[in-house]
Amino acid sequence: MKMSTKDLDFAGKASWLELSASALRNNIQVFRDLSANRFLLGVVLKGNAYGHGLLEVLPVVHPLIDIVYVVSPIDAFQIRNLEKTLGLSQKRVLVIGPIALNEAVKCAQENIEAVISDFSWKESIPALRKKKLRIVGHLHLDTGLAREGFTYNQIESEIDFLKDAQDVISLKGVMSHFSNTEDVTEQQYANLQLSNFHEGKARLYQFLGIQSELEEHFAASAATLVLPNSHLSVVRVGISLYGFWPSAETRISAKFILQKLPIFEPVLSWKCESQIVKPISKGSYVGYGCTYRMNHDGRIAVFPVGYFDGYPRIVSGKAHVLIHGKRCPVIGRVMMNSIIVDVTYVTEQSSDYVCTLLGSDGDETISAESIANWSQTIQYEIVTRLGSHLKRVIVE
Ligand SMILES: *Cc1c(COP(=O)(O)O)cnc(C)c1O
Repeated sequence: MKMSTKDLDFAGKASWLELSASALRNNIQVFRDLSANRFLLGVVLKGNAYGHGLLEVLPVVHPLIDIVYVVSPIDAFQIRNLEKTLGLSQKRVLVIGPIALNEAVKCAQENIEAVISDFSWKESIPALRKKKLRIVGHLHLDTGLAREGFTYNQIESEIDFLKDAQDVISLKGVMSHFSNTEDVTEQQYANLQLSNFHEGKARLYQFLGIQSELEEHFAASAATLVLPNSHLSVVRVGISLYGFWPSAETRISAKFILQKLPIFEPVLSWKCESQIVKPISKGSYVGYGCTYRMNHDGRIAVFPVGYFDGYPRIVSGKAHVLIHGKRCPVIGRVMMNSIIVDVTYVTEQSSDYVCTLLGSDGDETISAESIANWSQTIQYEIVTRLGSHLKRVIVE
């Protein structure tokens, strides 16, 4: 894929993101194959679709999935607007994060489903009742993460408010979230969480006098891949939709459990065109703090991308970028809006280079996992921190 900022309809030399629609479709198909129609496929588009861009990712995935999960109700409203603009039918949208009173009203009006995970609903219920609105709700059970939701011990004592709100909240499902499926290759804790879930569910049915089965959702990417007894009614796939293994442990486990490893295709590439290319002599310092000194006569290129855009400063002294299929070191410190790259050994002489900060060029690849390793973090953080100001372009 040859592309430069000149082909795009935005000015300047800012870095940009290319999103592969075929990779998104491939990754969805991996989960469709795994499901064989036994469970619904939910995708998680929180965090600006893990930094990939909600507005860009949604139209590609919309026809292929069953439910969209977001954290912020604002994202849910954006999805409804985009559906209207594009003439798409309404998908089920679930808000898993907190919802303020005025947002609860709007969710009910826009047919957006809510996750009941805290007591703030005590305030929203009267407001919904006054407006004669009804919202579809899912109860979040805390089964061991100690984040949102009610523990099974809280059911009899704390969720009276839900019992009294059956005219306003139509309870459709019950959900939970695993705490360490991707950190381990044995799933003892996850199985404990599952048994807490079934206990919580039994108490809930009893307490509310529920006769018909609720929808059950628990598994994120890792559990969907390695813990078949967590599939239940719906899975919520986040990181693997974007083409990443949740962790090395998950990949190893999947090899045993699935026999054949699925192929995930990374969706995202991040590119930037050089601003300046110039010769530099041996002994010259490069960048803030004079942390790097040239040990050869050579050439450097300055690229207008930096930690403001989400390229972590902590990769200074470690990172490479790809230029004409070659790995080139980022030298000196990563700055707010610039990096400096040693291009001495790039054989194609040019005054204008395109570098790949993340993605593939020729036989070389720089993965989000590599940048995460340089930064002592996880790929989730690298991609979700990509600036929302960056241009995102869908490519096939
Ligand atoms: C983020 C999140 C997911 C998705 O997790 P991945 O590991 O990215 O697949 C699923 N459920 C909840 C509640 C989440 O917060």
